[in-house]
Amino acid sequence: MIYTGGTIGMKQDPEDHALKPFDFSQILEEVPELGKFAFRIDSYTFDPLIDSSDVEPSLWQQLAALIRDRYNDYDGFVVLHGTDTMAFSASALSFMLDNLSKPVIFTGSQLPIGVPRTDGKENLVSAVEIASAKDENGRAMVPEVCVFFDSHLLRGNRSTKVNSEYFNAFRSPNWPPLAEAGVTIRYNRDIIRKPTVRPLKVQLDLDTRVSIVKIHPGMTPEVMRYLLCGTETRAVILETYGAGNAPSAEWFLDIVRDACAMGKLIVNVTQCLWGSVNMDLYATGKALKSAGAVSAFDATTESALAKLFFLLGKGLPTEQVKKAFEENLRGEISI
Ligand code: ASP
Repeated sequence: MIYTGGTIGMKQDPEDHALKPFDFSQILEEVPELGKFAFRIDSYTFDPLIDSSDVEPSLWQQLAALIRDRYNDYDGFVVLHGTDTMAFSASALSFMLDNLSKPVIFTGSQLPIGVPRTDGKENLVSAVEIASAKDENGRAMVPEVCVFFDSHLLRGNRSTKVNSEYFNAFRSPNWPPLAEAGVTIRYNRDIIRKPTVRPLKVQLDLDTRVSIVKIHPGMTPEVMRYLLCGTETRAVILETYGAGNAPSAEWFLDIVRDACAMGKLIVNVTQCLWGSVNMDLYATGKALKSAGAVSAFDATTESALAKLFFLLGKGLPTEQVKKAFEENLRGEISI
């Protein structure tokens, strides 16, 4: 169990009343149920513990390296993490850990674990159970990076935070839950990735010179050029309308063309939670495609961002990154 911070382990500071992380031993005190499992649970605490709004790719590198170094010691890993950036972190880890044959389950909570109505206990105990679950051949039931929250086990790189108030904080709109926890945990085995016998391959290098630009009525040429053609930018995720549509104005398409000609990757992700980019459906989508934009299909923004960090981190030329981006690497897109 790897504790990085987040609401699950927070307490109210008596001075400013803000929620701040406290240490892991107190989590264990609050969840004696963990002692009832018939297996050993070791814990590793990050220092400092953070609110996940402070997560940086360096935390993903630390997490991936920790899992790599302890991979043979454990059947599975549970990562306690704040909800705000959990989908980003789970997406990143899904790309960084290739040939995964063991579960890596992210969880957290909306209410701290010491609060009577906390959702943290159920999330934590079920996440641990799932991380240890084996199939009839003794292999991991879910050899994937996942998010477990409010009775749902979601593929990490398909998950997104959709609720800041209720316990159902996460959904994976374009992929069904991998499991649902009721009286028993029901695994949706047909859609869970199969374990591999290939050795785990971990990539720590990430190139984060990527930005996310949400298309909206009222964009101006000056601002768009600044955002898409900046010298330090390697790639831009354009969050477009509906099925991947953007304005057909010539100035806008010129900027996309110029950015592509400068060797930048312009990726098309839909603003919609459900459904996929299809740049062949409307003239506005087609224009974006012929200007050089690449489809993210039904990827979440979080997963498209992590995939770009990961692919650019390989140091490959843009054309190869572009090709790999449109491939389904970890179950993150439905093609
Ligand atoms: N701000 C908190 C965090 O992401 C929220 C949470 O954990 O639910 O760390």
